[in-house]
Amino acid sequence: MLFSIKIRELLYSKKSAFQQIDILESEEFGRILTLDGLMMVTEKDEFIYHDMIVHPAMCVNPMIEKVLVIGGGDGGTVRELTRYKTIARIDMVEIDEQVVRVCEHFLPLTSAKLNDPRVHLHFADGIDWVKQAKHAEYDLIIVDSTDPVGPGKTLFSTGFYQNCFRILSENGILINQHLSLCFAWDALKARQAHAKIKGIFPISKLYQAHTPTYASGSSLFGFASKTLDPIQDANFELWNQFGLETRYYNTELHIGAFLHPSYINKLLDMPIRKAWRQHNLLRRLGACFDVLRSEQHTPAYGLDLWFEAHWSKHTRFLMKTDKHLYSEKSAFQQIDILESEEFGRSLMLDGRMIANEKDEFIVHEALVHPALCVNPSVEKVLVIGNGVGGVVRELRRYETISQIDMITADEQVVCACAQWLPQIAAKLNDPQVHLQFGDGAAWVTNAKEESYDLILVAPDKKSGAEESRFTEAFYRECFRVLSKDGILVCRYDSPGFAREAYEMQQIHGEIKGIFPICKVYLAHIPTHAQGYSLFGFASKTLDPIQDADFASWNRLGLETAYYNTDIHLGAFMLPSYVKELLG
Ligand code: SAM
Repeated sequence: MLFSIKIRELLYSKKSAFQQIDILESEEFGRILTLDGLMMVTEKDEFIYHDMIVHPAMCVNPMIEKVLVIGGGDGGTVRELTRYKTIARIDMVEIDEQVVRVCEHFLPLTSAKLNDPRVHLHFADGIDWVKQAKHAEYDLIIVDSTDPVGPGKTLFSTGFYQNCFRILSENGILINQHLSLCFAWDALKARQAHAKIKGIFPISKLYQAHTPTYASGSSLFGFASKTLDPIQDANFELWNQFGLETRYYNTELHIGAFLHPSYINKLLDMPIRKAWRQHNLLRRLGACFDVLRSEQHTPAYGLDLWFEAHWSKHTRFLMKTDKHLYSEKSAFQQIDILESEEFGRSLMLDGRMIANEKDEFIVHEALVHPALCVNPSVEKVLVIGNGVGGVVRELRRYETISQIDMITADEQVVCACAQWLPQIAAKLNDPQVHLQFGDGAAWVTNAKEESYDLILVAPDKKSGAEESRFTEAFYRECFRVLSKDGILVCRYDSPGFAREAYEMQQIHGEIKGIFPICKVYLAHIPTHAQGYSLFGFASKTLDPIQDADFASWNRLGLETAYYNTDIHLGAFMLPSYVKELLG
């Protein structure tokens, strides 16, 4: 899989003693720093990574005074640290002086505070620095390094972590960039590092952030400490008194970031060897993903069949495809079903990735289970869209549900999925599913008052056949046909791109104007544009957190690969910029 960004200009490109350094000017993400072709920083979303590598630790121990940053040559981590007047000294140990000088010139956004008087810059290898540093010298160590390849390799070693333990004070905290768990190689390295740190530090947890331009749209961080637990010992009140404006981090999201989907919890508990076999299924993804990120927009792939999906005007998602199983233009759209080693079979509509066998479980579980956890006595359900069928598959797992009406515009999508994507479309021909082809908005208008307990709006895509639904009138009709404790769940998009953000604001504004309770939650979906998607939860009476019935839901004993009652809570804890967008 390739994620490619349209580049306007290559501003700088040189090999240093340690690595290839490139600075690119892009259409959509501003200036970009890559090292050895790997994405390091973009001006558009660097705030996410730098907020999350600094503020959680400062919230757990607001008394931190002496900090060691290893790596961090772009300066973003130091910038966030210098916002704390309580911090007296920052030693920044960067192996490659050229990275710092290049960023000082081309990336003032992140490098602006490298000349703060409290910052002491040292050009040295982090592994040597921690070896010679004194016992209990630091309150916080942040390893803002490259991945465990090349110069960064030693920063993921047991010896390095043991020295970090030695040079940290009693309440000391170690934070490190921990790759991600979505691609084989990254996930294995992340798990190996986690196991090493867990063997040295009494407290060792992982937390994540949704960083659109990182592999799979997610970055993972390690939090390790001798004494402080990142949740139990967090000092939210004191941190909020600092009055820092942060565009991603907030004390609510702090908790959510440590709550993980089931497949991640399972992966972290799995013995490494078994996990590696598991990872082999995903092995090729990581490698080719990174290498080609920094290339100009015209990839050359020889004879391989690559399918190009559009994420936005200037970003593309390219997938190496083994077979093109189905390709038809229906009355509504171009329908393609592809087979690839990485994603299994994928459904593309008008060149957009709609679902694939690898991570479809995330979006379908995120659409269905939160509502059923809030109202376990849902009986009558209306599904609008989702011709691929994953929503009804998840709904059919509830014996309490007696009726499912499904309205979708394009019959050809349903037929193609029933034939080529049986794993997802399995329940489309279930006797309890009343499948209708037509316009969902018209169906709702003709439906009787209070005839449904749950309405799930999951458009296959935001134009053509199903555009009519996104009107205020449509949501008013939904309100009318829902029962007293009825719930409306809508799949929004990810607000990372301007058009999607504007549309989401519109829809959310309309629903908020009609339903007394209207909240938004988030799910990390590796193959979705920006790596995550938002969902709207609206109800006449039920609050998705206060009224969630976790005990009843867990008693159902459903095996879910993504959803669990922890991630239910975490999903509603949104980054600051998303809250701002929603108003
Ligand atoms: N956010 C980025 C990521 O997640 O991959 C990291 C950004 S930062 C630019 C990484 C820095 O680590 C680079 O400037 C690199 O030179 C530095 N680095 C790599 N290995 C190092 C080592 N052994 N000691 C000190 N700095 C190192």
